[in-house]
Amino acid sequence: MALRKILTVEEPGLHKVSRPVTKFDKKLHELLDDMAQTLVDANGVGLAAPQVGILRRVVIIDTGEELVELINPEIVETSGEQDGMEGCLSVPGEYWLVKRPNYAKARAQDRHGEWFELEGEGLIARCICHECDHLDGHIYTEIAYRKLTDEEIEAMHSGLEEA
Ligand SMILES: [Zn+2]
Repeated sequence: MALRKILTVEEPGLHKVSRPVTKFDKKLHELLDDMAQTLVDANGVGLAAPQVGILRRVVIIDTGEELVELINPEIVETSGEQDGMEGCLSVPGEYWLVKRPNYAKARAQDRHGEWFELEGEGLIARCICHECDHLDGHIYTEIAYRKLTDEEIEAMHSGLEEA
């Protein structure tokens, strides 16, 4: 396993549509393992392959329970609405307010090509939407409606330290 460099929003690749995965081979497994290590190292909750310079439809999500690998994910159902803060490893240091569905269900393949479904509310739904947007070349700030101020971020961090 190796850490991969996380690209930031200036990179043209982050604004391109990623291609489907067709080979569920060793190269894909290496990418997934590297992405997992990179996500842990960055202390993030999700990572999409274009963020490490690979324009393939590959996403990993780890909201604290277990790491889920989604290959060729498609969002098949959403409902409700949540309004809250979001950040992105490719937009370091910024947090914006974004409205998202409160529930999302995705259909995806695992690393061996088997189809499965991932569904969830709250953070999982937010993550599914955020990461799938990356695969279509979209960054969350495009749909965010307000950037948090430095004071708000400061207050948030000190709050987290107390927890
Ligand atoms: Zn992101």
